[in-house]
Amino acid sequence: MIFDTIARSGHEEVVYCHNPDAGLRAIIAIHNTWLGPALGGLRMWNYRSEQEAVDDVLRLSKGMTYKAAVAGLNLGGGKAVIWGDPGRDKSEALFRAFGRFVNSLGGRYITAEDVGIDVNDMEYVLMETEYVTGVHQVHGGSGDPSPFTAYGTMQGLMAALNVRFGDEEIGKYSYAVQGCGHVGMEFIKLLRQHGAKVYVTDINQAAVRTAVEEHGCEAVGLDEIYDVDADVYAPCALGGTVNPGTIPRFRFKVICGAANNQLATDDCAKLLEQRGILYAPDYAVNAGGLMNVSLEIEGYNRERAMRMMRTIYYNLSKIFQIAKRDGVTTAEAAERMAQERITTIGRIRKPFMGNQPPRFLGRLRNG
Ligand code: NAD
Repeated sequence: MIFDTIARSGHEEVVYCHNPDAGLRAIIAIHNTWLGPALGGLRMWNYRSEQEAVDDVLRLSKGMTYKAAVAGLNLGGGKAVIWGDPGRDKSEALFRAFGRFVNSLGGRYITAEDVGIDVNDMEYVLMETEYVTGVHQVHGGSGDPSPFTAYGTMQGLMAALNVRFGDEEIGKYSYAVQGCGHVGMEFIKLLRQHGAKVYVTDINQAAVRTAVEEHGCEAVGLDEIYDVDADVYAPCALGGTVNPGTIPRFRFKVICGAANNQLATDDCAKLLEQRGILYAPDYAVNAGGLMNVSLEIEGYNRERAMRMMRTIYYNLSKIFQIAKRDGVTTAEAAERMAQERITTIGRIRKPFMGNQPPRFLGRLRNG
């Protein structure tokens, strides 16, 4: 059953990790390592079933392959999940046990933070393996990726505005931002610095107040955001908000935001195209966080990270060109761009078997 699932998803390797003493039940999924070691975050979630955990880790790790490929990184796609309640089940032993499994893969998989995990958990993982990114700055880590993701999203936005309107004047356009969290709030600040009109919504009323009172945004209701008469919709909260129920309501001309998995189904890309709405593929737009942590491998440098974010403009422009050239949706074009790079570059390198593990330079460990 699990083998069938893995075969269908095209993964290279899926590792079940069990340590009863630490209460660890985790799965590491390595989707593809043709371009390099598989880098992707660790998620801790109280899944309802093992199948749900497997499905999540397989879907997320595959997404990382495409994200790294489009971003031009020499990285493959992987992800890990710990089946447990982040509010109740965390311990030093748990994360060290997980770190030992990561280490056993010899650098084929490099972990990072994802939902339910913070930098303190990564400290324990780092005691057992160096194949971890997103560690604290005192160890030469890169810290919170959100401002970089927001800055990268701005680069993607400029490329999208250019294609849709023929200029990149951010302040000339209006925006409906869903989610004023880590990335959303940084993104709002950047938009407002350009003098743009920004509508916001969030389930967290304190975050909405900050956006309104400190950054001059206009608040709208949670569901109302889909009807706002703004030029750009920027999903910065959840996935799946672009769906057959919301698309007919849109008056937006562009969709460009940081949230993962914005399209509920593949068909939504076509629906958007039919309505003349330009979709900037999410994993190309929000690659800033991944780019940022990837630099930890060679020794983190903030200046270099900012320069790297700017390549998101180029990546998006290329996606839009492919879409035009091949007469396909922008979502399809992004996939083509990823596939093309994985096969052409990957052919000369595949697969990354860990015999030349990445060397983490400029990093200090306590372990
Ligand atoms: P976050 O949890 O800090 O922010 C999410 C915000 O969305 C919160 O303020 C939350 O209250 C709000 N929210 C949740 N449900 C909502 C709803 N139904 N309507 C309106 N608001 C709602 O998370 P984040 O780190 O800012 O990430 C935001 C999105 O960007 C996520 O989809 C994440 O996967 C993606 N992303 C983040 C990064 C990063 O660097 N943090 C990188 C790549 C992608």
